[in-house]
Amino acid sequence: MDLKIFERLESEVRGYVRSFPVVFKQAKGSILVDEAGQEYIDFFAGAGTLNYGHNNPAFKDKLVEYLNSDGIVHGLDMATSAKARFMATFEDVILKPRNLRYTLQFTGPTGTNAVEAALKLARQVKGRANVISFTHGFHGLSSGSLAVTANAKYREAAGTSLANTVFIPYDGYFGPDVDTIAYLERLLEDNSSGLDKPAAVIVETVQGEGGINVASLRWLRELQRVCRAHDMLLIVDDIQAGCGRTGTFFSFEPAGIQPDIVTLSKSLSGFGLPMSLVLMKPELDVWKPGAHTGTFRGNNLAFVTATEALERYWTSQAFSSDVQRKERILRDFLENLVQSYPEAGLSVRGRGLMQGLVSPDTEFAGKAAALAFKQGVVIETSGANDEVLKFLPALTIEEAELRRGLEVIDRCVAELMAAQGHEAGSPRVARVLKFSSR
Ligand SMILES: *Cc1c(COP(=O)(O)O)cnc(C)c1O
Repeated sequence: MDLKIFERLESEVRGYVRSFPVVFKQAKGSILVDEAGQEYIDFFAGAGTLNYGHNNPAFKDKLVEYLNSDGIVHGLDMATSAKARFMATFEDVILKPRNLRYTLQFTGPTGTNAVEAALKLARQVKGRANVISFTHGFHGLSSGSLAVTANAKYREAAGTSLANTVFIPYDGYFGPDVDTIAYLERLLEDNSSGLDKPAAVIVETVQGEGGINVASLRWLRELQRVCRAHDMLLIVDDIQAGCGRTGTFFSFEPAGIQPDIVTLSKSLSGFGLPMSLVLMKPELDVWKPGAHTGTFRGNNLAFVTATEALERYWTSQAFSSDVQRKERILRDFLENLVQSYPEAGLSVRGRGLMQGLVSPDTEFAGKAAALAFKQGVVIETSGANDEVLKFLPALTIEEAELRRGLEVIDRCVAELMAAQGHEAGSPRVARVLKFSSR
C-alpha cells in the first residue's frame, strides 16, 4: 500500500503521517518496520506513550493470556478483577513507597479527558472559575483543556472563546534572571492586579509539546508554596513527563512536592492502550456519583498491561537507574554536539529521556528530523515554532540502538551544519558532562 488512501479519504487534520510518510506495518521494542521492510529506530515513542517500547513481550503475553481466559474487555466503571488488581498494585508499588495518599479517578481514556476532570474538580472544590496556566503549556485539545493550552494553532481551531484561564510566564520565559513565581505572587497579592482569584494552577514539570522547557526544582517548590499561600490547588499534568520519562515514576518526585491533583495517561497502560487517571488528595473528592462519566473508563486490557508495567519496572530502583544511565548517554551526546559547532548557537535542555536540541535557526529541527527519517530514525520536533528537535526514545531502548540512532542524528546535524558553512570544531570526545537540575 502507498499513501494514496490516506490522502484521498483522510481529513486534512492528519498530522504525523505527513512527517513520517510511509505505511508502518510492525514494531517491536524501539524498531518500527514499514511495508517495504525498511526499519526505523524510534526516538519518538508515540509522543511518550511507548515508554516501555512497542509490543513489549511481557505485557503482550499477559494480554493474550487474559483474552484467552475471556477476561472482561469493556467494563464501563463496573468493578472487575483486572481493575482491582491494577488499583492494589498502584497503591503498593507507586503510592505507598512514595508516601503519597491519593484517591483514583478513572476518566475517559484520553489525556485530555483526565485534564477536563482535573479542572472541573478544582473548580468545584474552590468554587472559582479562573485557572492559571503557563506560556507554552500543552494540556489537550477538548474545550476545557484547550483553554489552558497556549499554542495559537490549537486555540484558533476552537472556533469559540476559550475563557477562564490566565497564562503566566513559565520558568525561564524571560531568561534565567527573571523569577516568574515572584511575578505570579505579586499579581496574587495585589487586589488591583486584575487577576481573578484562581481555583488552581495547572503545570507540566517539563513541557513536552511546548519545547522541552524544564521547570527548575526550586521553581516547582516555590509554585507549590504560592499555591498553598493563596488557597489554589496545584495540578501537575504528568501525562507526558510522568511514567518514568524523566527518570522517576512521577516527574515531580525530585522536587519533593505533593501536588493536589495529578493527571496521568500516555504511558500509563505501558502497551500503548488508551487509559487515563486522575489522582486527587482524598479530601478533594467532592464528586457526586457519575458526575463525570465516559463510556471507555474501563479499558480492562489497559489495566492488565498497566499492572504488569508497574510490577515489572517499578518494584525496584533498577529501572530508574537504567533510565538515568541512558539519560547520561543522550545528554553527553547532545552536549558534545552543541560544543562541536560553537558558531551555530545550539543548546540542549531536558530531564531524563526527554531532551531537546534547540537551534536559533527555527528551520533546523524540522530539517534535521526530515533528514533523520530518510536515514531511518523517527524523531519529532516540538516547541511553538517546531524549533526543538525532541528526543523521546523508549525508556527500554537497548544501549546499542540508542547509540545507533544518535550516530544517524550526528550525521544529519553534520550535513546541515556543513550546508550552512559550520565545520565541526572541537573533536567529539566521549565524556560525561555534568548537568544540573538546580
Ligand atoms: C498528550 C498530552 C495531553 C493530551 O493527551 P491526549 O491523549 O492527546 O488527549 C495532555 N497533557 C500533556 C502534558 C500531554 O503531553
